[in-house]
Amino acid sequence: MNFRLRLTLLFAGLCFLLFALISAGAYWAFASAAWKELDQKLVPRGESLAGRIEISGDRASAPGGFGKGGLEERIDVVFSLAGKILLATSGIQAAALQPSSALSPQLMEGQVVLQDLQLVDGTAVRVAYIPLLRDGKLTGVLATAIPRESTERSLSNLAITLLVANAILLVLAAVIGWLLARSVLQPVKRMRQLAEEISLQDLEKRISLEGPRDELYALAATFDSMLDRLQKAVTADKQFFAESSHELRTPLTIIQGNLDLALRNPLATTDELRQTLRLARDETEAMSRIVADLLFLARSDTQALEMVRETVPLRALLEEVVQLLTPLAQEKTIRLEIAGEDVPFRGDRGLLQRMLLNLGENAIRYHQKEGWVRFGLVRENQSIRICVEDNGWGIPSEEYPLLFTRFFRGIEAKRQEPQGTGLGLAIIAEIARRHGGTVEVRSQSGEGSCFTVVFPVASIPTR
Ligand code: ADP
Repeated sequence: MNFRLRLTLLFAGLCFLLFALISAGAYWAFASAAWKELDQKLVPRGESLAGRIEISGDRASAPGGFGKGGLEERIDVVFSLAGKILLATSGIQAAALQPSSALSPQLMEGQVVLQDLQLVDGTAVRVAYIPLLRDGKLTGVLATAIPRESTERSLSNLAITLLVANAILLVLAAVIGWLLARSVLQPVKRMRQLAEEISLQDLEKRISLEGPRDELYALAATFDSMLDRLQKAVTADKQFFAESSHELRTPLTIIQGNLDLALRNPLATTDELRQTLRLARDETEAMSRIVADLLFLARSDTQALEMVRETVPLRALLEEVVQLLTPLAQEKTIRLEIAGEDVPFRGDRGLLQRMLLNLGENAIRYHQKEGWVRFGLVRENQSIRICVEDNGWGIPSEEYPLLFTRFFRGIEAKRQEPQGTGLGLAIIAEIARRHGGTVEVRSQSGEGSCFTVVFPVASIPTR
């Protein structure tokens, strides 16, 4: 059963329930009023007749007439205390109105008793038993009855009218429900059609729902913003793919060009050939660096990168990193320093080492000769901060927003250090993110930079 049908049925069902309740209430109110009216026709006249009845022994009389001045179909019967019929307007039906012994206590107390009975010919009647009292003593009972038929007929007419009205209202509610459900589900239908039309090649379309700011508007807006994010991700992927291909093609073109040159030269000396081979090896090395970095990012993007979490003493790790970087630093006469107390941290040792090595390498490479690179470790209330600070070239402000973009390389970096891949900071940020952290940068062109990795305290082992 589709949603529109379900909504329609729900709406029609609820409307029907409401109509049925209102109809039942109306019927009940009308019926009680009708029966009350019938009793009011019966009792006052019976009481006035009873006032005129005189009983002496087995005889009864009603001066002024018996059975007159009332409705035509009325039956009046006077019973003696022994149950004998003393007076009756209809002899045939009179016996059926005999009061049962169960009524005696109420009649003895002088109360009027009302009862529904069926006569011999099947007529349903309403009977009022009125005690005939003389000097406070019960001398007989007047039974006065009128048929219930006309009241029953008007009640059954009312019931039929209400049933028909309910049936019509049910159909109307179903039609209105169907139309309402259509208008409510219109945006949902549009969303479905749009979702069917959207493919990775065409992510331009949006629902752009107009109208009241309701739940459907919010759903459509969420859907649109999801498409925005999807489009951004797909565009970034395409760009990444194009840039990766470009970065890999450059060394390949260089290798191919140099090999062709060497092959075309029959007089090439051994030194020249060795030179070509060396160049091919250097370019292959550059390519494998790019491929390794790409592989790392691809694995991380697809969550295929497995993390082995253990307790890592960060100070010891920094000392290790400094030791590994010492030869590179010595080439440029750069002093490596470590500051800060040890902080144990829960993370992947290999990944953390790679992150710190990348940060340290950058600090040394993008640095003039002589100077310092300082590794700092700070434990704060809510976080752990690892800073790698240098007094190197610094970063021009216009390059700031692009630093963590894959394949981005600074102008100066490209000129002076051509072997970089432009993937280092992207990898650093990814490793920090995998540990729940972020990377902050402060830099002043010409004065130095400070990269700070901030981890939340939750990553610190409790023991
Ligand atoms: P790569 O080092 O291969 O160029 P990265 O992603 O590690 O790639 O760095 C991107 C760019 O950020 C570098 O090309 C450089 O311009 C700039 N950069 C990174 N670290 C520093 C630093 N410590 N000092 C100055 N510039 C830096």
